[in-house]
Parts: sequence; structure tokens; C-alpha cells
Amino acid sequence: MNTTLRQQLATLIATPSITCTDASMDMGNLAVVEHIASWATELGFRCELQHVAPGKANLIATLGEGPGGLVLSGHTDTVPYDAARWKSDPFTLTERDGKLYGLGTADMKGFFPLALAAAHEAASVIRAGGRLHAPLILLATCDEETSMAGARALVAAGKPRARFAVIGEPTGLKPLRLQKGVMMERLVIEGRSGHSSDPALGHSALDAMHAALGELIGFRRELAERHHNPLFTVPTPTLNLGCIHGGDNPNRICARCELQYDLRPLPGMAMNELRATIAQRLAPLAEQFQVSIRSEPLFAGTPAMETPADSPLVLAAEALTGHASGAAAFGTEAPYLQELGMDALILGPGDIDTAHQPDEFVAIDRLQPTISLLSALIRRFCLSA
Ligand SMILES: [Zn+2]
Repeated sequence: MNTTLRQQLATLIATPSITCTDASMDMGNLAVVEHIASWATELGFRCELQHVAPGKANLIATLGEGPGGLVLSGHTDTVPYDAARWKSDPFTLTERDGKLYGLGTADMKGFFPLALAAAHEAASVIRAGGRLHAPLILLATCDEETSMAGARALVAAGKPRARFAVIGEPTGLKPLRLQKGVMMERLVIEGRSGHSSDPALGHSALDAMHAALGELIGFRRELAERHHNPLFTVPTPTLNLGCIHGGDNPNRICARCELQYDLRPLPGMAMNELRATIAQRLAPLAEQFQVSIRSEPLFAGTPAMETPADSPLVLAAEALTGHASGAAAFGTEAPYLQELGMDALILGPGDIDTAHQPDEFVAIDRLQPTISLLSALIRRFCLSA
């Protein structure tokens, strides 16, 4: 492994960029994107920082110009860590048994030095006064592990534009072209309290919730019967009843009950249609139980994503890796890049079972194959006509 690559990896790992829904643990990513921008600038990339929130930014680094082109994309934040369960300091790149340990090695700050190494050939074409057939864009986002705020800001700004995108999330260097969506929703039922001795004195939100749960479980069964995609380990959509809170005392009619659930649609299932169907199925219960029923998303939701099996990017990655493309069991920024008009593929050197775990690592023997693979994709989509 060359020293530049190792130094860049060590620098990114030594620059904490934890994000967390608990604000007291949430950090910015500016120092990370500034390191990447300085290395990209040395190679001849034009760098643009898109500020998303205080201390948080996306980096769009572009080599060459014109329409089309290839994006190499990653997120710069990591999840929090369990200090006591790490064998070495999570912020010190540490080599042991052919592996490089550190928080973010696999998921996924480790991808950026590899993408930069792969860009050398394209950079030398430009330095020699030549032109790329289509641009090469290095994209580094913020807040992927929490709110996807970085990816959302890109969609809102309508950039970057390109034809293809590789997202270097940990896939063990196997291409993944599908992922499920994620919806988290809240159902609030409000009735009227009253003395428990006489049901006519109130309208029970709990009784209505019992019926609503039955509807949701029935809907889940129907979804599983109607939708099936064998490329996923769990081949059907899922609907998880996550938590429920209601009422206060056994001798009072329950006035309010709230349920939160998680729905993971397959590609081809639209989130707004799912929300409309659920609302339609629950609506009659309001009349029947004399309560109000309100459904609302806990966050905007991430749509499911499918890149066509015959996309030139999928075919090229399958030929180069020798692996048929599959489906991700985890969420990524792919749906947002797809919304920006790119065929997105998830493909990176780490292993997903080491991500979000103590002693996260990337295997040293994955590094050069990743650089070779990315270099071949750059040659195919940016250098040749
Ligand atoms: Zn990740």
C-alpha cells in the first residue's frame, strides 16, 4: 500500500465525524470534507462545498466537464462507538492481521482515498492538456447515518448531474442495485375520556386502536401476498408495529392512543400510495368508534430503489467483479442520486457485518482491487467515447 493512501486513510479516521440523533453527540464533518477537497484539488478537481447546516457540508469535486459522467460517492459521517469494546483507539488507523482498523474504515470514509487513487489516470490526462470524454465527480456527503440531510440538500439543489453513480458503502466488492425503502409513521387516535363504569360516557381510543392494529396486520399480510422480490433476503415488504402508548388508568376510558410503525416497501411500491391506502382503510374506524384518526410520517421517508439490470454501469460492474448484482439489506443514499437522474450502484471494499460494530476494519487485500475496479469504471465512463 503506498504511503499517500495510508496517510490519507489515517487522517480521515483521525478526524471524528460522528452523527447521532442525540444532539449532544452529533458532530460536524467540515474538517473531513476539507481534507478530501485539498487532496482532490491537488489532482486538478474543481471543488465546491455545499453548506447544509452549521459545521456540515457536502463536497462536490469535479474533474472535466460536460454532460453525463460518473459520480463516486460516499458519506463522511460515522455512527457513534463503544470505547470499551474496541481493542485499539477507533480514531487511530491500526494495522493487525492484514486489516486496517478504525471507525469509518469500512463505513465509509475509507472509500475516499481509494476513489482519489483511482482518479490519477484521469487527472494525468487533464494535466497533459487532454480532455475527458465525460466528467468524473467525487461526492462526499454529510449526515447519512441520521437524517440524510446531505443527500436531500443535493436533490433540492439539483446537483450534481451525472449519468452513473457508484456508492462505496461496504458490500464486500459485490455490486448491489436494489434497496428497500424506509418509512416511519405515527398513528394518533383521539377519543374522549370518561368513567370506566359506563362506556357511554366516552369514546375509547384504545378500542379504536385495537381495530386499527387489526387493519394494519391484515394490510401487512396482503402486501406480503402481492409483492415478492427474491433478490432480497427478506423477499416481501415488512410492516413492524414498533411502539404504542395510550391511556393512563384502568378506571378511565382511554382518550388518546399513539402507535409508531416502520414500513419497508420493495422497489415499485410508492410511499404516497401506501400512505393513502392505509388512511383509506383506517377512515371507517373514526365513524365506528367516534374518534379522530390521524396518520403522519415521522420523517419524509426514503423511497425504495432499483437500477435496471441492463444499465451499462451494472453490466460493467458485474463483468469486472465476476458477481451478479444483488439487493442491499441496508439503506443508502442511492434513491437520492437516482432522483438526480443517475443509475446508482452500491459497491465498496468493506464488509457490512463489520460496520456499526467495535473493531470496524477494511481488509488490506481489498484496497488494490477496489482501486483497479474504480479505475476501470472511470476509463469506461469518463475516458473513452
Ligand atoms: Zn454507510
